[in-house]
This record gives sequence, structure tokens and C-alpha cells, in this order.
Amino acid sequence: MEIARIGIVGAGIMGSGIAGVFARQGFTTIVCDVDSKALADGKTQIEKSLARGRQTGKLSEADAKRILGQLRFCTSLDELSRSDLIIEAIVERLDIKLDVFARLDELTPDHTILASNTSSLPLIELAKATHRPDRVVGMHFFNPAPVMKLLELVRSIATSDETLATVRQLGEKLGKTVIVAQDRAGFIVNLLLIPYIANAIRLFESGFASREDIDTGMKLGCSHPMGPLELVDYVGLDTTLFVCETLHAEYGNPEYAPPTLLRRMVAAGYLGRKSGRGFYEYPPR
Ligand code: NAD
Repeated sequence: MEIARIGIVGAGIMGSGIAGVFARQGFTTIVCDVDSKALADGKTQIEKSLARGRQTGKLSEADAKRILGQLRFCTSLDELSRSDLIIEAIVERLDIKLDVFARLDELTPDHTILASNTSSLPLIELAKATHRPDRVVGMHFFNPAPVMKLLELVRSIATSDETLATVRQLGEKLGKTVIVAQDRAGFIVNLLLIPYIANAIRLFESGFASREDIDTGMKLGCSHPMGPLELVDYVGLDTTLFVCETLHAEYGNPEYAPPTLLRRMVAAGYLGRKSGRGFYEYPPR
């Protein structure tokens, strides 16, 4: 199936990054967020990413202009009604995602593929909120989307071979390396990553080691580009909490249970880089 017009729901960390990836490849891309400030911030993020591309010589001025020309921004889902593919990248809450999928199902033609960037939630639940379960699929991009090479596709038991083939081909066209996971909480990457992050938070919470030593240990000891506490700040503490809860509910394994400190930090509004404070502080530049 030919995919030309892309809709993105959510202009946060991931939605803005994914929109930039598609626009760079020449796709007409419309980004929608309910919050007009989040929408403006998302646009600024894309502009900054293009400016970095210009500074490093990867993009010319004309490229950056062309890419921005591929993008439109809106606050109403109605504007996405002519999309061939819509990728939902809103907050990791099943109830809110279900509403969005039901609404997208109503306003788009039958051929439109509805994808979710969810980190952990069951694709089959999102599929059931629509009349096209065979055209609902997980497209899990990684942060920052323009830089990270991986695209984890998630097929529910109802996803058709044709849908999977279409999004696989598209992912490869975007220059991503594609892996396919079954519809189990956490898929491949977060199933392995989340207990590691949760254990690092518990280590810090217990006073066993400082945040710097935990991060340095994993960077220098295991060649990770970021330590686990730096990583959770980068991902967002709220998103990490939702993912822990989903994994814990699915598997019952105590390693997935959200650490108390994570819960309290989210309650305090310490969400990581995006709020200016998480395990580290990020003063505005
Ligand atoms: P975020 O908090 O940065 O952004 C979420 C955005 O969704 C906000 O701008 C919010 O205004 C918007 N939104 C909420 N409800 C909406 C609605 N009904 N309609 C339109 N917009 C709505 O979150 P994020 O980190 O970008 O995560 C988004 C999704 O991507 C989540 O499912 C998350 O699990 C997944 N994900 C996150 C990461 C990461 O590193 N942060 C990586 C991979 C996948």
C-alpha cells in the first residue's frame, strides 16, 4: 500500500521527533496535540533539531526549509482525516489512547493504518477500539527518534500480514532497522530495560550509592552511553512509571514494580529533562 500522508497525534518528546523523521524523508506530515503550548514546543524541538543538522553540515539551509515545508501543526484530530498512516504518540495511558483510537477510526477512511508508539500497552486493546483491528499495529520509535536507528514493530494477534509488511517497508525507507515483537507488555526492549532502570532507582533510593556513581558505573563498566538515572530523566519519569505499572500488572514480577521514589517524584512534578528536574537538574538555557 502506498503511504504518502502521515498524521502524528501528540507533539511531545516522541511525536515531534517522529514527525521530523517523516518530514526529512519528504512525507507530508500533520502533527496534532490537544495542548497548543505543547504543539508550539514540539515545533521548536523540530526547528532546533534541523538547526543542529545545519551546524553539523548534515543539512543545507534549503533542506531545512523543505523539511519544515512538509510539516503542518493543528489542535484538532479532524485535520488528520486524509492520512494514510497515523501514529499516536500521546501520554502512556490506555484510557486516553482508547478514546483517541476510537475517534481516529471514525474520521479516517478504511485504508488508513492506525499505529501506536506505545512503550508497553496491549495493541489488541487499541485495535478493539476500532473497526479495523487488522490495520492497527505498534510502531515503537526510540528517543531521540531522528537519531536512534531502531524501529520495534509490534503485531497484535489481529494485525494483518499486509499491514506489517507496509509498515516494515516504510520503516526501512526511513532508514531504520526494524525488529518485530509480539504483543506482550514491554515488547522486546522495555521488557529488558525497565527492570534495569527500576533496580537502579531502588539502589539510589536505598542510599546504596550516589546517582553519579550508579551512572558512571554503567557508563564506564558496560559502555552504556548514558547511566540509568540519566536515561530515566531523558525518557521522562511519568512515562517510565506508566510502563512499570503496565509490566507489573501483566507479569506480576516484583522487579517491574514502580519504586516508591519514582512514584513520589512524579507526584512532585519531577518528570526529568522535560520539566527541568528529575534525578538531576536541568536549568533553562
Ligand atoms: P510527552 O509527555 O512528551 O508527550 C505527550 C503529548 O501528548 C503531550 O504533548 C500531550 O499534550 C499530548 N496529548 C495528551 N493527550 C492527547 C490527546 N488526547 N490528543 C492529542 N495529544 C494529546 O510523552 P512522550 O515521551 O512523547 O511519549 C509519548 C508516547 O511515546 C508514550 O506512549 C510513550 O510510552 C512512548 N514512548 C516514549 C519514549 C520516551 O523516551 N519518552 C520512547 C518510546 C516510546
